[in-house]
Amino acid sequence: MTEKPRVSIFGLGYVGLTFAATLASRGFKVIGYDIDERKLELIKRGKSPFYEPGLEELLAEAVSDGNLTVTRDPEEAVNNTDVTFITVGTPEGPDGGADLSQLHSALRDLGRGLAKKQSWHLVVIRSTVPPGTSRSAAKLLEEMTGKRCGVDFGLCMNPEFLREGNAIEDNLNPDRVVIGECDKRSGDYLEGLYKAFLGERLPPMLRTSLENAELIKYANNAFLAMKISFINMIANLCERIPYADVEDVARGIGLDKRIGPYFLKAGLGWGGSCFPKDLKALLHVGRELGVDLPLVEATVEVNERQPLKAVEFAERALGDLRGRRVAVLGLAFKPNTDDMRGAVSIKIVNKLVEKGARVVVYDPKAMPNAKRIFGDKVEYAESALDAIKGADCAIFVTEWDEFKSLKVEEVAKLMKNPVIIDGRRIFNPKNISSTVKYFAIGLGKNYD
Ligand code: NAD
Repeated sequence: MTEKPRVSIFGLGYVGLTFAATLASRGFKVIGYDIDERKLELIKRGKSPFYEPGLEELLAEAVSDGNLTVTRDPEEAVNNTDVTFITVGTPEGPDGGADLSQLHSALRDLGRGLAKKQSWHLVVIRSTVPPGTSRSAAKLLEEMTGKRCGVDFGLCMNPEFLREGNAIEDNLNPDRVVIGECDKRSGDYLEGLYKAFLGERLPPMLRTSLENAELIKYANNAFLAMKISFINMIANLCERIPYADVEDVARGIGLDKRIGPYFLKAGLGWGGSCFPKDLKALLHVGRELGVDLPLVEATVEVNERQPLKAVEFAERALGDLRGRRVAVLGLAFKPNTDDMRGAVSIKIVNKLVEKGARVVVYDPKAMPNAKRIFGDKVEYAESALDAIKGADCAIFVTEWDEFKSLKVEEVAKLMKNPVIIDGRRIFNPKNISSTVKYFAIGLGKNYD
Protein backbone atom coordinates (compact mmCIF):
# COMPACT_ATOMS: atom_id res chain seq x y z
CA MET A 1 0.00 0.00 0.00
CA THR A 2 1.77 3.16 -1.18
CA GLU A 3 -0.78 5.75 -0.08
CA LYS A 4 -2.81 5.72 3.10
CA PRO A 5 -6.44 4.78 2.33
CA ARG A 6 -9.08 7.43 2.94
CA VAL A 7 -11.35 6.21 5.73
CA SER A 8 -14.98 6.85 6.62
CA ILE A 9 -16.38 5.81 9.99
CA PHE A 10 -20.11 5.25 10.60
CA GLY A 11 -20.94 5.68 14.30
CA LEU A 12 -18.86 8.09 16.39
CA GLY A 13 -19.23 6.59 19.86
CA TYR A 14 -16.49 5.28 22.16
CA VAL A 15 -15.17 2.92 19.48
CA GLY A 16 -15.68 4.97 16.32
CA LEU A 17 -14.52 8.35 17.59
CA THR A 18 -11.38 7.10 19.33
CA PHE A 19 -10.48 5.15 16.18
CA ALA A 20 -11.16 8.21 14.01
CA ALA A 21 -8.98 10.45 16.20
CA THR A 22 -6.07 8.00 16.38
CA LEU A 23 -6.15 7.31 12.62
CA ALA A 24 -6.17 11.06 11.96
CA SER A 25 -3.26 11.51 14.38
CA ARG A 26 -1.26 9.13 12.16
CA GLY A 27 -1.98 11.20 9.04
CA PHE A 28 -5.03 9.35 7.69
CA LYS A 29 -7.82 11.42 6.13
CA VAL A 30 -10.95 10.44 8.02
CA ILE A 31 -14.61 11.36 7.48
CA GLY A 32 -16.93 10.64 10.40
CA TYR A 33 -20.67 10.09 10.04
CA ASP A 34 -23.24 9.73 12.83
CA ILE A 35 -27.02 10.12 13.02
CA ASP A 36 -26.61 12.15 16.23
CA GLU A 37 -26.29 15.76 15.05
CA ARG A 38 -25.36 17.03 18.52
CA LYS A 39 -22.32 14.77 18.42
CA LEU A 40 -21.35 15.99 14.94
CA GLU A 41 -21.58 19.64 16.05
CA LEU A 42 -19.33 19.02 19.05
CA ILE A 43 -16.77 17.02 17.07
CA LYS A 44 -16.66 19.70 14.36
CA ARG A 45 -15.45 22.08 17.10
CA GLY A 46 -12.83 19.57 18.28
CA LYS A 47 -14.87 18.69 21.39
CA SER A 48 -15.54 15.15 22.59
CA PRO A 49 -19.18 14.23 23.36
CA PHE A 50 -17.96 11.93 26.19
CA TYR A 51 -15.00 11.65 28.55
CA GLU A 52 -12.07 9.53 27.45
CA PRO A 53 -8.52 10.39 28.59
CA GLY A 54 -6.46 12.04 25.83
CA LEU A 55 -9.30 12.07 23.29
CA GLU A 56 -10.14 15.75 23.33
CA GLU A 57 -6.51 16.78 22.70
CA LEU A 58 -6.26 14.41 19.71
CA LEU A 59 -9.63 15.55 18.37
CA ALA A 60 -8.75 19.25 18.54
CA GLU A 61 -5.55 18.55 16.60
CA ALA A 62 -7.20 16.27 14.05
CA VAL A 63 -9.98 18.76 13.33
CA SER A 64 -7.69 21.80 13.11
CA ASP A 65 -5.21 20.12 10.74
CA GLY A 66 -8.10 18.95 8.54
CA ASN A 67 -7.42 15.20 8.89
CA LEU A 68 -10.78 14.61 10.57
CA THR A 69 -14.01 16.02 9.17
CA VAL A 70 -17.61 15.04 9.81
CA THR A 71 -20.64 14.89 7.56
CA ARG A 72 -24.38 14.40 7.82
CA ASP A 73 -24.37 12.75 4.42
CA PRO A 74 -23.41 9.06 4.43
CA GLU A 75 -23.27 8.88 0.62
CA GLU A 76 -20.70 11.67 0.54
CA ALA A 77 -18.68 9.80 3.19
CA VAL A 78 -18.62 6.63 1.06
CA ASN A 79 -17.91 8.45 -2.19
CA ASN A 80 -14.92 10.33 -0.85
CA THR A 81 -13.22 7.41 0.89
CA ASP A 82 -11.79 3.96 0.07
CA VAL A 83 -12.93 2.08 3.15
CA THR A 84 -15.85 2.42 5.59
CA PHE A 85 -15.70 1.12 9.16
CA ILE A 86 -19.07 0.49 10.82
CA THR A 87 -18.86 1.16 14.57
CA VAL A 88 -22.51 1.61 15.53
CA GLY A 89 -23.98 0.21 18.75
CA THR A 90 -25.28 -3.36 19.05
CA PRO A 91 -27.17 -3.17 22.36
CA GLU A 92 -29.21 -5.89 24.03
CA GLY A 93 -32.50 -6.61 22.30
CA PRO A 94 -35.76 -7.53 24.08
CA ASP A 95 -35.04 -11.29 23.80
CA GLY A 96 -31.43 -10.96 25.03
CA GLY A 97 -30.02 -11.25 21.50
CA ALA A 98 -28.04 -8.41 19.91
CA ASP A 99 -30.25 -5.62 18.56
CA LEU A 100 -28.91 -5.09 15.03
CA SER A 101 -31.18 -2.20 14.05
CA GLN A 102 -28.37 0.41 14.14
CA LEU A 103 -26.24 -1.88 11.98
CA HIS A 104 -29.00 -2.42 9.44
CA SER A 105 -29.74 1.28 9.13
CA ALA A 106 -26.00 2.04 8.75
CA LEU A 107 -25.75 -0.65 6.05
CA ARG A 108 -28.68 0.83 4.16
CA ASP A 109 -27.05 4.30 4.25
CA LEU A 110 -23.76 2.79 3.17
CA GLY A 111 -25.42 0.76 0.41
CA ARG A 112 -26.88 3.90 -1.20
CA GLY A 113 -23.39 5.38 -1.45
CA LEU A 114 -21.88 2.11 -2.62
CA ALA A 115 -24.46 1.75 -5.41
CA LYS A 116 -23.24 4.99 -6.98
CA LYS A 117 -19.55 4.38 -6.49
CA GLN A 118 -17.52 3.47 -9.57
CA SER A 119 -14.47 2.02 -7.82
CA TRP A 120 -13.94 -0.94 -5.43
CA HIS A 121 -14.75 -0.07 -1.79
CA LEU A 122 -14.02 -1.99 1.41
CA VAL A 123 -16.70 -2.32 4.11
CA VAL A 124 -15.43 -3.25 7.59
CA ILE A 125 -17.80 -4.25 10.38
CA ARG A 126 -16.10 -3.34 13.65
CA SER A 127 -19.18 -3.49 15.88
CA THR A 128 -19.62 -6.67 17.94
CA VAL A 129 -22.09 -8.84 16.00
CA PRO A 130 -23.32 -12.46 16.34
CA PRO A 131 -21.87 -15.13 14.04
CA GLY A 132 -23.41 -14.97 10.58
CA THR A 133 -24.22 -11.25 10.71
CA SER A 134 -21.34 -10.08 8.50
CA ARG A 135 -22.15 -12.62 5.77
CA SER A 136 -25.80 -11.46 5.85
CA ALA A 137 -24.57 -7.85 5.67
CA ALA A 138 -22.65 -8.70 2.48
CA LYS A 139 -25.84 -10.22 1.00
CA LEU A 140 -27.88 -7.15 1.94
CA LEU A 141 -25.35 -4.87 0.24
CA GLU A 142 -25.33 -7.11 -2.86
CA GLU A 143 -29.15 -6.95 -3.07
CA MET A 144 -29.16 -3.19 -2.59
CA THR A 145 -26.41 -2.36 -5.06
CA GLY A 146 -26.47 -5.13 -7.65
CA LYS A 147 -22.74 -5.47 -6.98
CA ARG A 148 -20.89 -8.62 -5.91
CA CYS A 149 -19.04 -8.96 -2.62
CA GLY A 150 -15.50 -10.17 -3.29
CA VAL A 151 -15.58 -8.64 -6.80
CA ASP A 152 -17.01 -5.10 -6.85
CA PHE A 153 -16.64 -4.43 -3.17
CA GLY A 154 -14.92 -6.13 -0.23
CA LEU A 155 -16.07 -6.91 3.29
CA CYS A 156 -14.22 -7.70 6.52
CA MET A 157 -15.20 -8.32 10.13
CA ASN A 158 -12.63 -6.69 12.37
CA PRO A 159 -13.61 -6.89 16.05
CA GLU A 160 -12.52 -4.20 18.47
CA PHE A 161 -10.99 -5.04 21.87
CA LEU A 162 -10.33 -1.59 23.37
CA ARG A 163 -10.95 -0.80 27.01
CA GLU A 164 -12.84 2.40 27.78
CA GLY A 165 -10.62 4.65 29.88
CA ASN A 166 -7.62 3.38 27.89
CA ALA A 167 -9.05 3.61 24.40
CA ILE A 168 -6.42 5.83 22.77
CA GLU A 169 -3.54 3.67 23.94
CA ASP A 170 -5.44 0.49 23.00
CA ASN A 171 -6.12 1.84 19.49
CA LEU A 172 -2.44 2.63 19.01
CA ASN A 173 -1.08 -0.52 20.71
CA PRO A 174 -3.55 -3.39 20.29
CA ASP A 175 -2.57 -6.90 21.49
CA ARG A 176 -3.59 -8.29 18.10
CA VAL A 177 -5.60 -7.46 15.00
CA VAL A 178 -8.25 -9.98 13.97
CA ILE A 179 -9.38 -9.83 10.35
CA GLY A 180 -12.31 -11.94 9.21
CA GLU A 181 -12.52 -11.66 5.43
CA CYS A 182 -14.98 -12.49 2.68
CA ASP A 183 -12.10 -12.74 0.18
CA LYS A 184 -8.32 -12.39 0.07
CA ARG A 185 -8.29 -8.95 -1.53
CA SER A 186 -10.40 -7.52 1.34
CA GLY A 187 -8.14 -9.07 3.99
CA ASP A 188 -4.96 -7.91 2.20
CA TYR A 189 -6.32 -4.38 1.96
CA LEU A 190 -7.24 -4.19 5.64
CA GLU A 191 -3.91 -5.72 6.66
CA GLY A 192 -2.17 -3.02 4.57
CA LEU A 193 -4.22 -0.32 6.32
CA TYR A 194 -3.15 -1.59 9.74
CA LYS A 195 0.50 -1.79 8.63
CA ALA A 196 0.30 1.87 7.56
CA PHE A 197 -1.49 2.80 10.81
CA LEU A 198 0.54 0.89 13.40
CA GLY A 199 3.94 0.73 11.66
CA GLU A 200 6.55 -0.82 13.91
CA ARG A 201 4.00 -1.43 16.63
CA LEU A 202 2.11 -3.89 14.44
CA PRO A 203 0.95 -6.76 16.71
CA PRO A 204 0.23 -10.37 15.66
CA MET A 205 -2.41 -10.40 12.95
CA LEU A 206 -4.99 -13.19 12.60
CA ARG A 207 -6.61 -13.67 9.19
CA THR A 208 -9.68 -15.88 9.35
CA SER A 209 -13.31 -16.36 8.31
CA LEU A 210 -16.00 -13.75 9.03
CA GLU A 211 -17.69 -16.13 11.48
CA ASN A 212 -14.50 -16.88 13.42
CA ALA A 213 -13.80 -13.16 13.80
CA GLU A 214 -17.32 -12.62 15.13
CA LEU A 215 -16.96 -15.53 17.57
CA ILE A 216 -13.51 -14.47 18.75
CA LYS A 217 -14.98 -11.24 20.13
CA TYR A 218 -17.78 -12.97 22.04
CA ALA A 219 -15.54 -15.77 23.33
CA ASN A 220 -12.98 -13.17 24.41
CA ASN A 221 -15.48 -11.19 26.47
CA ALA A 222 -17.09 -14.32 27.93
CA PHE A 223 -13.68 -15.62 29.05
CA LEU A 224 -12.69 -12.33 30.70
CA ALA A 225 -16.04 -12.05 32.48
CA MET A 226 -15.70 -15.70 33.56
CA LYS A 227 -12.32 -14.95 35.18
CA ILE A 228 -13.88 -12.12 37.20
CA SER A 229 -16.91 -14.16 38.21
CA PHE A 230 -14.58 -17.01 39.20
CA ILE A 231 -12.56 -14.85 41.58
CA ASN A 232 -15.77 -13.29 42.95
CA MET A 233 -17.04 -16.78 43.71
CA ILE A 234 -13.78 -17.52 45.57
CA ALA A 235 -14.14 -14.13 47.33
CA ASN A 236 -17.55 -15.16 48.66
CA LEU A 237 -15.94 -18.28 50.10
CA CYS A 238 -13.07 -16.29 51.64
CA GLU A 239 -15.56 -14.10 53.51
CA ARG A 240 -16.71 -17.10 55.54
CA ILE A 241 -13.18 -18.24 56.44
CA PRO A 242 -11.40 -16.32 59.23
CA TYR A 243 -7.95 -15.04 58.17
CA ALA A 244 -8.70 -15.65 54.48
CA ASP A 245 -8.28 -12.81 51.98
CA VAL A 246 -9.11 -13.11 48.28
CA GLU A 247 -6.41 -10.56 47.39
CA ASP A 248 -3.68 -12.98 48.47
CA VAL A 249 -5.47 -15.96 46.94
CA ALA A 250 -5.73 -14.09 43.60
CA ARG A 251 -2.06 -13.11 43.78
CA GLY A 252 -1.13 -16.71 44.46
CA ILE A 253 -3.04 -18.19 41.55
CA GLY A 254 -2.15 -15.29 39.23
CA LEU A 255 1.53 -16.15 39.57
CA ASP A 256 0.82 -19.41 37.78
CA LYS A 257 1.82 -18.59 34.20
CA ARG A 258 -0.99 -20.80 32.90
CA ILE A 259 -3.53 -18.53 34.64
CA GLY A 260 -1.91 -15.07 34.69
CA PRO A 261 -2.65 -12.14 37.01
CA TYR A 262 -5.20 -10.21 34.91
CA PHE A 263 -8.95 -10.04 35.52
CA LEU A 264 -8.57 -11.67 38.94
CA LYS A 265 -9.60 -8.63 40.96
CA ALA A 266 -12.54 -9.46 43.20
CA GLY A 267 -15.19 -6.77 43.54
CA LEU A 268 -18.86 -5.90 43.18
CA GLY A 269 -19.05 -7.51 39.74
CA TRP A 270 -18.56 -6.54 36.14
CA GLY A 271 -20.77 -4.11 34.22
CA GLY A 272 -20.37 -1.72 31.33
CA SER A 273 -21.63 -1.41 27.80
CA CYS A 274 -20.11 -4.70 26.57
CA PHE A 275 -19.82 -7.67 28.96
CA PRO A 276 -23.48 -7.78 30.08
CA LYS A 277 -24.99 -7.52 26.60
CA ASP A 278 -22.33 -9.63 24.89
CA LEU A 279 -22.72 -12.55 27.30
CA LYS A 280 -26.50 -12.39 26.92
CA ALA A 281 -26.11 -12.29 23.13
CA LEU A 282 -23.82 -15.34 23.26
CA LEU A 283 -26.36 -17.24 25.37
CA HIS A 284 -29.01 -16.26 22.83
CA VAL A 285 -26.88 -17.66 19.99
CA GLY A 286 -26.46 -20.89 22.00
CA ARG A 287 -30.23 -21.15 22.55
CA GLU A 288 -30.95 -20.61 18.85
CA LEU A 289 -28.50 -23.34 17.90
CA GLY A 290 -29.64 -25.71 20.68
CA VAL A 291 -26.25 -25.62 22.40
CA ASP A 292 -25.96 -25.26 26.19
CA LEU A 293 -23.32 -22.80 27.41
CA PRO A 294 -23.29 -23.58 31.16
CA LEU A 295 -20.05 -21.71 31.94
CA VAL A 296 -21.46 -18.54 30.40
CA GLU A 297 -24.71 -19.01 32.32
CA ALA A 298 -22.84 -19.42 35.62
CA THR A 299 -20.67 -16.38 34.83
CA VAL A 300 -23.79 -14.24 34.48
CA GLU A 301 -25.50 -15.77 37.52
CA VAL A 302 -22.55 -15.09 39.86
CA ASN A 303 -22.44 -11.53 38.59
CA GLU A 304 -26.12 -10.82 39.14
CA ARG A 305 -25.82 -11.34 42.89
CA GLN A 306 -22.46 -9.62 43.39
CA PRO A 307 -23.43 -5.89 43.42
CA LEU A 308 -26.08 -6.41 46.08
CA LYS A 309 -23.43 -7.61 48.51
CA ALA A 310 -22.74 -3.93 49.14
CA VAL A 311 -26.30 -3.52 50.42
CA GLU A 312 -26.06 -6.71 52.52
CA PHE A 313 -22.90 -5.36 54.20
CA ALA A 314 -24.66 -2.06 54.91
CA GLU A 315 -27.59 -3.90 56.51
CA ARG A 316 -25.26 -6.07 58.55
CA ALA A 317 -23.64 -2.95 59.97
CA LEU A 318 -26.70 -0.71 60.39
CA GLY A 319 -29.77 -2.94 60.43
CA ASP A 320 -32.76 -1.30 58.77
CA LEU A 321 -31.54 1.22 56.17
CA ARG A 322 -34.70 3.36 56.26
CA GLY A 323 -33.72 7.01 56.75
CA ARG A 324 -29.99 6.17 56.85
CA ARG A 325 -27.68 8.41 54.87
CA VAL A 326 -25.60 6.23 52.51
CA ALA A 327 -22.80 7.68 50.37
CA VAL A 328 -22.12 5.87 47.09
CA LEU A 329 -18.69 6.71 45.72
CA GLY A 330 -17.98 5.90 42.09
CA LEU A 331 -20.79 5.54 39.56
CA ALA A 332 -19.04 4.97 36.21
CA PHE A 333 -18.76 1.27 35.33
CA LYS A 334 -14.99 1.56 35.68
CA PRO A 335 -12.45 4.33 36.41
CA ASN A 336 -11.39 6.89 33.78
CA THR A 337 -14.68 6.95 31.93
CA ASP A 338 -18.03 8.71 32.36
CA ASP A 339 -19.87 5.70 30.89
CA MET A 340 -22.58 4.34 33.18
CA ARG A 341 -24.11 1.85 30.75
CA GLY A 342 -24.63 -1.39 32.69
CA ALA A 343 -22.78 0.04 35.72
CA VAL A 344 -23.23 -1.95 38.95
CA SER A 345 -23.71 1.37 40.78
CA ILE A 346 -27.20 1.58 39.23
CA LYS A 347 -28.29 -1.71 40.83
CA ILE A 348 -26.81 -0.69 44.19
CA VAL A 349 -28.34 2.80 44.27
CA ASN A 350 -31.76 1.50 43.20
CA LYS A 351 -31.73 -1.18 45.91
CA LEU A 352 -30.68 1.35 48.58
CA VAL A 353 -33.47 3.72 47.51
CA GLU A 354 -35.96 0.85 47.53
CA LYS A 355 -34.93 0.11 51.12
CA GLY A 356 -35.64 3.70 52.13
CA ALA A 357 -32.03 4.92 52.49
CA ARG A 358 -31.16 8.57 51.77
CA VAL A 359 -28.55 8.13 49.07
CA VAL A 360 -25.91 10.70 48.21
CA VAL A 361 -23.72 9.97 45.19
CA TYR A 362 -20.41 11.19 43.81
CA ASP A 363 -18.26 10.35 40.78
CA PRO A 364 -15.32 12.35 39.39
CA LYS A 365 -16.65 12.25 35.77
CA ALA A 366 -20.04 10.57 35.54
CA MET A 367 -22.24 13.09 37.41
CA PRO A 368 -24.06 14.37 34.26
CA ASN A 369 -24.90 10.78 33.24
CA ALA A 370 -25.88 9.96 36.84
CA LYS A 371 -28.34 12.87 36.90
CA ARG A 372 -30.02 11.54 33.76
CA ILE A 373 -30.33 8.06 35.31
CA PHE A 374 -31.24 8.80 38.95
CA GLY A 375 -33.05 12.17 38.60
CA ASP A 376 -34.22 13.40 42.00
CA LYS A 377 -34.10 9.97 43.67
CA VAL A 378 -30.67 10.78 45.16
CA GLU A 379 -28.58 13.74 46.32
CA TYR A 380 -25.52 14.77 44.31
CA ALA A 381 -22.31 15.70 46.17
CA GLU A 382 -19.58 18.06 44.93
CA SER A 383 -16.73 15.86 46.10
CA ALA A 384 -16.01 12.53 47.78
CA LEU A 385 -15.62 14.19 51.19
CA ASP A 386 -18.80 16.18 50.66
CA ALA A 387 -20.67 12.89 50.08
CA ILE A 388 -19.10 11.18 53.08
CA LYS A 389 -19.73 14.01 55.58
CA GLY A 390 -22.43 12.96 58.10
CA ALA A 391 -23.08 9.63 56.32
CA ASP A 392 -24.03 6.45 58.18
CA CYS A 393 -22.21 4.36 55.62
CA ALA A 394 -19.88 4.89 52.63
CA ILE A 395 -19.82 2.39 49.77
CA PHE A 396 -16.89 2.52 47.33
CA VAL A 397 -18.17 1.16 44.02
CA THR A 398 -15.59 2.29 41.41
CA GLU A 399 -11.83 2.30 42.03
CA TRP A 400 -11.02 5.87 40.93
CA ASP A 401 -7.45 6.95 41.81
CA GLU A 402 -8.77 9.92 43.81
CA PHE A 403 -10.47 7.50 46.24
CA LYS A 404 -7.27 5.50 46.69
CA SER A 405 -5.57 8.55 48.20
CA LEU A 406 -8.25 8.97 50.91
CA LYS A 407 -7.20 8.03 54.45
CA VAL A 408 -9.80 5.69 55.90
CA GLU A 409 -9.37 6.97 59.47
CA GLU A 410 -9.94 10.57 58.32
CA VAL A 411 -12.93 9.57 56.22
CA ALA A 412 -14.42 7.73 59.22
CA LYS A 413 -14.06 10.84 61.40
CA LEU A 414 -16.32 12.80 59.03
CA MET A 415 -19.07 10.21 59.21
CA LYS A 416 -21.96 9.82 61.60
CA ASN A 417 -21.27 6.08 61.75
CA PRO A 418 -17.83 4.84 60.66
CA VAL A 419 -19.09 2.11 58.31
CA ILE A 420 -16.97 1.71 55.18
CA ILE A 421 -17.74 -0.82 52.47
CA ASP A 422 -14.84 -1.35 50.13
CA GLY A 423 -16.40 -2.85 47.02
CA ARG A 424 -13.19 -2.73 44.99
CA ARG A 425 -10.47 -3.47 47.54
CA ILE A 426 -9.14 0.08 47.37
CA PHE A 427 -7.80 0.21 50.93
CA ASN A 428 -5.34 -1.98 52.80
CA PRO A 429 -7.24 -3.67 55.64
CA LYS A 430 -4.02 -3.93 57.66
CA ASN A 431 -3.96 -0.12 58.01
CA ILE A 432 -7.52 0.18 59.33
CA SER A 433 -8.15 0.34 63.07
CA SER A 434 -10.93 -1.55 64.80
CA THR A 435 -12.81 1.71 65.44
CA VAL A 436 -13.87 1.60 61.79
CA LYS A 437 -16.47 -0.94 60.73
CA TYR A 438 -14.71 -1.98 57.53
CA PHE A 439 -16.26 -4.49 55.12
CA ALA A 440 -14.46 -5.60 52.00
CA ILE A 441 -15.19 -8.10 49.26
CA GLY A 442 -13.38 -11.35 49.93
CA LEU A 443 -12.10 -10.55 53.41
CA GLY A 444 -12.60 -13.21 56.11
CA LYS A 445 -12.66 -10.46 58.74
CA ASN A 446 -16.15 -9.41 57.54
CA TYR A 447 -17.65 -12.16 59.70
CA ASP A 448 -15.48 -11.74 62.84
P1 NAD B 1 -21.82 3.95 21.24
O1 NAD B 1 -23.23 3.74 21.58
O2 NAD B 1 -20.94 4.74 22.13
O3 NAD B 1 -21.69 4.56 19.79
C1 NAD B 1 -22.47 4.17 18.70
C2 NAD B 1 -22.68 5.40 17.80
O4 NAD B 1 -23.34 4.99 16.61
C3 NAD B 1 -23.54 6.48 18.43
O5 NAD B 1 -22.87 7.72 18.36
C4 NAD B 1 -24.82 6.48 17.56
O6 NAD B 1 -25.41 7.75 17.44
C5 NAD B 1 -24.26 6.01 16.24
N1 NAD B 1 -25.26 5.46 15.31
C6 NAD B 1 -26.36 4.74 15.59
N2 NAD B 1 -27.00 4.39 14.45
C7 NAD B 1 -26.26 4.90 13.44
C8 NAD B 1 -26.40 4.87 12.01
N3 NAD B 1 -27.40 4.24 11.44
N4 NAD B 1 -25.46 5.50 11.28
C9 NAD B 1 -24.43 6.16 11.87
N5 NAD B 1 -24.26 6.23 13.20
C10 NAD B 1 -25.16 5.59 13.97
O7 NAD B 1 -21.21 2.46 21.07
P2 NAD B 1 -19.70 2.00 21.34
O8 NAD B 1 -19.49 1.79 22.80
O9 NAD B 1 -18.77 2.83 20.56
O10 NAD B 1 -19.76 0.53 20.69
C11 NAD B 1 -19.86 0.34 19.30
C12 NAD B 1 -19.69 -1.13 18.99
O11 NAD B 1 -18.39 -1.56 19.38
C13 NAD B 1 -20.66 -2.05 19.73
O12 NAD B 1 -20.98 -3.14 18.91
C14 NAD B 1 -19.85 -2.51 20.93
O13 NAD B 1 -20.29 -3.76 21.42
C15 NAD B 1 -18.48 -2.62 20.33
N6 NAD B 1 -17.38 -2.45 21.28
C16 NAD B 1 -17.43 -1.48 22.24
C17 NAD B 1 -16.37 -1.32 23.11
C18 NAD B 1 -16.43 -0.28 24.21
O14 NAD B 1 -15.58 -0.35 25.12
N7 NAD B 1 -17.33 0.67 24.19
C19 NAD B 1 -15.24 -2.14 23.01
C20 NAD B 1 -15.19 -3.10 22.01
C21 NAD B 1 -16.27 -3.24 21.14
